[in-house]
Amino acid sequence: MMSGPERRTVRDLRRGNRAIVLRALYFGGPASRQELTGATGLSAATVSNVTAGLLAEGAIVEAGLVESDGGRPRVLLRVDPEHGYAIGVDVGETHVRVELFDLAMTERAKADYALRPARHEAQLVARHILAGIDVVLAEAGVGRERMLGVGIGVPGIVEHGPAAVIHAQTFGWESVPLGTLLRAGTSLPLFVDNGAKTMGQAELWFGAGRGARHAIVALVGSGVGANIVTDGVTYRGVTGSAGEWGHTTVVVNGRRCRCGALGCLEAYVGAEGVLGPATRRRAG
Ligand SMILES: [Zn+2]
Repeated sequence: MMSGPERRTVRDLRRGNRAIVLRALYFGGPASRQELTGATGLSAATVSNVTAGLLAEGAIVEAGLVESDGGRPRVLLRVDPEHGYAIGVDVGETHVRVELFDLAMTERAKADYALRPARHEAQLVARHILAGIDVVLAEAGVGRERMLGVGIGVPGIVEHGPAAVIHAQTFGWESVPLGTLLRAGTSLPLFVDNGAKTMGQAELWFGAGRGARHAIVALVGSGVGANIVTDGVTYRGVTGSAGEWGHTTVVVNGRRCRCGALGCLEAYVGAEGVLGPATRRRAG
């Protein structure tokens, strides 16, 4: 971006401070205003202004009192779990799973659609996702205006943009514009990414990677993928394929992989690669 610090307006600054406080409360709360001042590096006056605004909007709520040495007890603040909701979608080999969460990541509703292996028409998957969104919204009794967005994890390489074009050999998807297909049926904000990357992001926010600046989170399921994080940001590579190591050749002229090539890593450590020989042995 070309805009230097001099281009930042007061409004940008205020929005930035809000984000800093919200982030500190979301990942580190509940916390008192004084703790927030320490955690964010913002001034006490700024924390006081920002939290007043967030309280007035209902984005944060008071969460009891904590004793302070000698002084008045301090009010704890936390993000209101019901201020907003998010939907997560997992497009896997055998199912499309749609779940609705509040901001505390408590699951409020869920819908599951089985996929027959080797039958993953993009239109069918899109229909399942859209149906699932309607089902979980109705089941949770949450209005669309309360939804922050829908995050969708898919196999393969995702071209980031409104069309969210996906290349997933194992699904038989060549340049499938999943974003466009879904946009025809919902106006909610959509975030489509590779499933290993979404899982890696979740680990960094809530799991084993909390607080890490550099991490590699590996997904070993039917497919094999990874999220490579450097300086807190997912490394994507020039084509968005960084971390797509399942189809790296590990054995020359080796086992046949689902993608058609020989000797891919996935053919050995992916679920089919592990279960295939075991079931063949049992049958033989
Ligand atoms: Zn392969």
